[in-house]
Amino acid sequence: MTSETRFTVDLADIRAIDLLCKACNGSLALNPKWRKPLMIPLSCPSCGEKWLTEGSEMHRAIRDLLDSIRTIVEMDEKNEFKFELRVNVPHEASGRASDGKD
Ligand SMILES: [Zn+2]
Repeated sequence: MTSETRFTVDLADIRAIDLLCKACNGSLALNPKWRKPLMIPLSCPSCGEKWLTEGSEMHRAIRDLLDSIRTIVEMDEKNEFKFELRVNVPHEASGRASDGKD
């Protein structure tokens, strides 16, 4: 049986957006606090697998996501509301200890 625990994440606490390579399991961290122009690699830095096409919808979406996170964090004090992400965290309800793997 699986249950879920919800918690919220302040966008200022986001340290990175990780891109995980499906070919080699390598990863690349993109920090939304990095200043423009943010370089988003078009291929895996570990194995060279092609990930994106320059200017593609996904390439723009990743850039826009990082830009949006940075903008919201920078403008947070000026807002009359607080912005948080609500996240579901699945975990085993059977009491089995997690080994940290999926
Ligand atoms: Zn790779």
